[in-house]
Amino acid sequence: MQPRDLSSHAAYEAGRGIEEVARELGLDPDSLVKLASNENPLGPSPAAVEAIRENAGRVHTYPKASHADLTAALAEQWELSPSQVWLANGGDGALDYLSRATLDPGDWVLVPEPGFAYYGMSARYHHGEVSTYRVSKDENFAQTAEGVLEGYDGERIVYLTSPHNPTGSEIDLTEVEKLAERTTEETLVVVDEAYGEFSEGPSAVELVETRDDVAVLRTFSKAYGLAGLRLGYALVPEAWADAYARVNTPFAASEIACRAGLAALADTEHVRESIETARSARQHMYERLEAPTWQSAGNFVLAEVGDATAVAEGLRRRGVIVRDCTSFGLPECIRITCGTEEETRRAITECNELLREAAE
Ligand SMILES: *Cc1c(COP(=O)(O)O)cnc(C)c1O
Repeated sequence: MQPRDLSSHAAYEAGRGIEEVARELGLDPDSLVKLASNENPLGPSPAAVEAIRENAGRVHTYPKASHADLTAALAEQWELSPSQVWLANGGDGALDYLSRATLDPGDWVLVPEPGFAYYGMSARYHHGEVSTYRVSKDENFAQTAEGVLEGYDGERIVYLTSPHNPTGSEIDLTEVEKLAERTTEETLVVVDEAYGEFSEGPSAVELVETRDDVAVLRTFSKAYGLAGLRLGYALVPEAWADAYARVNTPFAASEIACRAGLAALADTEHVRESIETARSARQHMYERLEAPTWQSAGNFVLAEVGDATAVAEGLRRRGVIVRDCTSFGLPECIRITCGTEEETRRAITECNELLREAAE
């Protein structure tokens, strides 16, 4: 007896964790700098940590009140009704809900190339098919309605990532609106704002308020520093409200996740500091890295370094873990997460040394 044919499903490979790399290199984990997964270098909000401690004794009950409270808090923040907030087990879980609510077997989704792998994975899990549009290096990864429409052929979901992972580019709201106008009534435009807090631009949530064909994805994994908790959500059109109850895994966001999420949401100072740290790290990388970089609206910077696999490996041996973008189809680029000032400085120094050595 075997599982169904999964040969078209790419296995997700998470970046290697600090302990794993430390063990392999025989180094102290504390001496390593991990800037590979766009995690928050400041850690979680202390208020969230406190909430996790305080609520540990309550995990024998299903998270009914906390789930409702967090949904209500998010609805208030975004000025939507609670039924438009779909809490999930990470942003990835919210992508699954959108797939479940939208795709019939054989339906198509349109995803950016290069782009976030889970859009396509989720579609395939739900018996969907995947086509791509280019976010082109020749155009500095600019995102426009026109560019997306070149790849569009009536797909049920069109994914936009703004700020875009791994390039850091953004798409203007006017372009999102133009795209939603030009796609058919049966197409949902999903704007993935996993890095939205780091951007200076407005959220596409204003289009969720006014239209029935735009949804927004948000997560607590990045600016809120709660990647390990798995908490994210989709903001969906009003007309979609009752679909959540029909597709969600019961209590997909745990008691601890909801309580920590509520505390993190209230800790605006931690988010502000996280954003400030990322902005300053981005600036350092643009200015000091001896490699071409692209302006990024996220908490990471894409840099062109030649042989990305060799550079990422060389950096790893020097104790700095970055993301080799070969699997994104950018074999000449690495993506460096914004660290603390010290971590970022170390990454820049090691990278520059390595590049100079390679040039000799
Ligand atoms: C990190 C990320 C997400 C969501 O991650 P979760 O940890 O599942 O919330 C979604 N989209 C992009 C582009 C990301 O980089």
